Amino acid sequence: MAQEHSHDHPHDHDHDHPVLKYSDDSEHDYDETARYPLMAEAMRQLLIEKGVVDADRVRDLVEFMDSRSEAIGAQIIAKAWTDADYKKRLLEDGTKAVEEFDIPMLGAELIVVENTPDVHNMIVCTLCSCYPRTILGLPPDWYKSKSYRSRAVIEPRAVLKEFGTDVAADTAVRVHDSNADMRYLVMPMQPEGTEDWSADQLADLITRDCMIGVTRPSVPETVAAE
Ligand code: FE
Repeated sequence: MAQEHSHDHPHDHDHDHPVLKYSDDSEHDYDETARYPLMAEAMRQLLIEKGVVDADRVRDLVEFMDSRSEAIGAQIIAKAWTDADYKKRLLEDGTKAVEEFDIPMLGAELIVVENTPDVHNMIVCTLCSCYPRTILGLPPDWYKSKSYRSRAVIEPRAVLKEFGTDVAADTAVRVHDSNADMRYLVMPMQPEGTEDWSADQLADLITRDCMIGVTRPSVPETVAAE
């Protein structure tokens, strides 16, 4: 979906913030009279007026995107963890493998990258906010922040640490830069001790941040103690 690739972003500031400041949304409250929302609305009305798109199609797309959430990604990763053949298909051709779940990539290619003891993967869009939206829903504000977009490639280990993720010195960190044609999804390592869990149980452990690669899934202590 080409319209996803917006390069001017209202959340960008000229000064740097630590990445996690963006989990505080107080300064990002949606203001529909601000410059970018007004431009977007003007553009929408013009496109409809000129007959380039129709209002129903726009509404359908908005509703479709609203229906997307990280639960879809969690279901896919859990399936891969419990089905070796599916995992192979997912790593070989992500776009085709998610079609089995009726998930369209809307023209972009999906590349699934697997975390192993030797390699930790994380994803970013250094240019703007490209993200596997049909699989994870809308990206979090910090993902779109200038701070994350630049620091993820300059000092990925420091960024990971801010998310509470310590990557061992002998584990390589690979940062994947998404774009309009290519979207990435991280397949985290399955936590130890969950080998006989069902896909539904496993899906509960797989969060959005794990699939962006800034955190790792873990078994909650209350569950581990059972
Ligand atoms: Fe982008």
